[in-house]
Amino acid sequence: RAKLRGRNRNHHFSPDMADALYRKMTLRHHLTLALESQNFQLYYQPIVDLASHQLKGFEALIRWYDDELGQVSPGEFIPLAEETGQIVPLGHWILKTACQQLAAWHQKYQHRFTVSVNLSRAQLQTSLAPAIQALLEQYDIQPSQLALELTESTMLQEYDEAKQCLDALAGLGLELYLDDFGTGYSSLSQLQDLPISTVKLDQSFVQGEHKSSQAIIEATRAICEKLALKVVAEGVETIKQLQYLQQCNFDYCQGYYLGKPLPPVEIEANNFSLLNPIPVKPADTSQAA
Ligand code: C2E
Ligand code: MG
Ligand code: MG
Ligand code: MG
Repeated sequence: RAKLRGRNRNHHFSPDMADALYRKMTLRHHLTLALESQNFQLYYQPIVDLASHQLKGFEALIRWYDDELGQVSPGEFIPLAEETGQIVPLGHWILKTACQQLAAWHQKYQHRFTVSVNLSRAQLQTSLAPAIQALLEQYDIQPSQLALELTESTMLQEYDEAKQCLDALAGLGLELYLDDFGTGYSSLSQLQDLPISTVKLDQSFVQGEHKSSQAIIEATRAICEKLALKVVAEGVETIKQLQYLQQCNFDYCQGYYLGKPLPPVEIEANNFSLLNPIPVKPADTSQAA
């Protein structure tokens, strides 16, 4: 028995688990402080139209730099904020900041850009559509300038409530993107049932991490075409990947090859080369990897 207890104790309190728990508690504490001071930033990454080589819009990606912890990735702190419910006020800050940015760019450049914002499941409440409508009015943003990205897991539980919320958002005129497609559990019927305009194929397929990456890329393109959905390829890092996606007739691409997520000042420092065609090299000119 003692042996068994010892083993159990070992199982429950291994040094790795203690480290992980300590990290989580520290993050939780710092996250609470960061929320109070709104110590976050939104970065913006271009999404490029492959037919016209023009900017389609930006994806807004949150960044958090903590003085003690350094840069903490959203992959680590967003799930934590989801666990505690802090994602709801944080999510509102993200939406508001994106709208403020769109308004600032409109004023400065006389151009209405489009930004897509990632949403978490907990944000899909009845109050979301009215809150977004209020932001659009407050910042003079047209609904077509704001898109929302949802992951497949976002839609799994309490499907009816989520669907009502998504229908209300689409009713406002916002586009909805299905993010990380191919990695979750969404059924193809959901693609039809929900007011989704655009699918974002997960970067793992673009980067060839799966045995059948190419087959999945081509099949996804075919499904989206049949269902009249636009399709974005995420995580495009090389000219080769870009050329392949062009060949497959993808509508849009996003990835380090086309532009990394950057803070607004750096986007502007690029002199909004965005207003001009993005220099996507034609498929036949480059052999470079
Ligand atoms: P996501 O929405 O799928 O965002 C794409 C992620 O891929 C981003 O990571 C982006 O920086 C990264 N990425 C873009 N191009 C490339 C590329 O060419 N190569 C590689 N290796 N990576 C690329 P990031 O910013 O670390 O965000 C990770 C995830 O955290 C996001 O995945 C999203 O699920 C979540 N997230 C980020 N910002 C927010 C936010 O404001 N709200 C919510 N709810 N979630 C967010
Ligand atoms: Mg996204
Ligand atoms: Mg994604
Ligand atoms: Mg992702």
